[in-house]
Amino acid sequence: CGITGYIGYRKAYPIVINGLKRLEYRGYDSAGVMMYDGDKIHLSKTKGKVSDLEVITNKEEERKKGNIGMGHTRWATHGVPNDVNSHPHFSQSGDLVIVHNGIIENYDTLRKELISRGYTFKSDTDTEVLVNFIEEIKKQEGCKLGQAVQLALNSVIGAYAISVFDKTKPDEIVIARLGSPIAIGIGKDNSEFFVASDASPFIEFTKDAIYLEDEEMAIIKLGKGIKVRRIHDDALVDAKIQELQMSLDQ
Ligand code: GLU
Repeated sequence: CGITGYIGYRKAYPIVINGLKRLEYRGYDSAGVMMYDGDKIHLSKTKGKVSDLEVITNKEEERKKGNIGMGHTRWATHGVPNDVNSHPHFSQSGDLVIVHNGIIENYDTLRKELISRGYTFKSDTDTEVLVNFIEEIKKQEGCKLGQAVQLALNSVIGAYAISVFDKTKPDEIVIARLGSPIAIGIGKDNSEFFVASDASPFIEFTKDAIYLEDEEMAIIKLGKGIKVRRIHDDALVDAKIQELQMSLDQ
């Protein structure tokens, strides 16, 4: 299972899909990508391999123009491997998109609560519950995505690496980690950022990386930079930028 993501000035799709191929060693049963073209979010996802996903996306040239994207390979824990349960998942409004590795243990309680508030679910995944929980908190608190993610994660029992995108604030990606790895690649002058389960998807683009520790989240803002915080107490973390030593042929 793995996560990739890109926000910057290049075409996101090739970076995200090639990144997924480099993460294939982690094992998975389904694959998917989201592509944002400045106006709409496009999702393509399928049970099967990244090459099966490409059979679909090869017919979707129009969708692949944007500079923001996220990719996912799924190792199913909640809901069988099928197209609908594959990630990414939308929130009910269609504004938020999430990719997630890990497990949300209290998803059933949260799901029932959300259903009583009028939410409906397309998939059987714990992940779709999480993205709608974030959306509900954002609505209730009137806060930004980063804060909604933080509040949601503080009510969640489980393990995760997540990456979340909000169409209403398209210069940002919010990521978080507890138990599953996630790294950020930093482009020159904050002109682009990469997100991935390990650094292999972005090694040819940048050598500067931040690896989140457990219980940390990051708000990645195009042109501005990265703010890393501890999820449970909101403390700002002085995250060290590491210089990557690896190269593609190692
Ligand atoms: N629990 C999530 C699901 O079943 C994520 C699984 C994963 O780690 O890929 O969809």
